[in-house]
Amino acid sequence: MIDFTEEQIERYSRHIILPEVGAEGQSKLLESKVFMIGAGGLGSPVAYYLAAAGVGTIGIADADVVDSSNLQRQIIHNQERVGMPKVESAKTTMQALNPDVQVNTYNYFITEDNVREIIRDYDLIIDGCDNFPTRFLVNDACYFEKKPLISGAMFRFEGQVATFKPHQQNDAPCYRCLYPEPPPAGLVPSCSEAGILGALAGAVGTIQAV
Ligand SMILES: [Zn+2]
Repeated sequence: MIDFTEEQIERYSRHIILPEVGAEGQSKLLESKVFMIGAGGLGSPVAYYLAAAGVGTIGIADADVVDSSNLQRQIIHNQERVGMPKVESAKTTMQALNPDVQVNTYNYFITEDNVREIIRDYDLIIDGCDNFPTRFLVNDACYFEKKPLISGAMFRFEGQVATFKPHQQNDAPCYRCLYPEPPPAGLVPSCSEAGILGALAGAVGTIQAV
């Protein structure tokens, strides 16, 4: 268990007084490493709450820059940061909230060539991406690297959250067991095509963070 500073005892006191968390649980959070795919609608609440909770190392991958059409739901960014890489904007917000947290940024696309090597360093993977090829890629990488995956998705007014950990439970499914194949490209419209209720991203992403 780590030795807390006075500031940490103060900052995390509402966790520490929960018997189910306690100093031991908070210590575990501070030593944990979580990797997130996407710093958008789902990534915003996930990154914000994990930083607030004192998850010690948070990796975020996103190749996009902040666009003003993002700000209706991607609340980790702001008006002044339009044009800035989303991972940089997210890091700035997270470190302003909690300087205890180390944020590793990956300002590029997650591909089959880099995904396994990246996630190998982390304890838990949270998927908040916006497309099916990435969703399947992340599932397969988590399956082979034996990492628990918290998957989140949303469409217009509805959302989905699921935890997959086939390596920890006998015969437990992965994402591909639930959905064997990605839908054909172009079949499912994106947020920019179909619209999305802004606060829904907060609801789904917050469940992932919990
Ligand atoms: Zn499977």
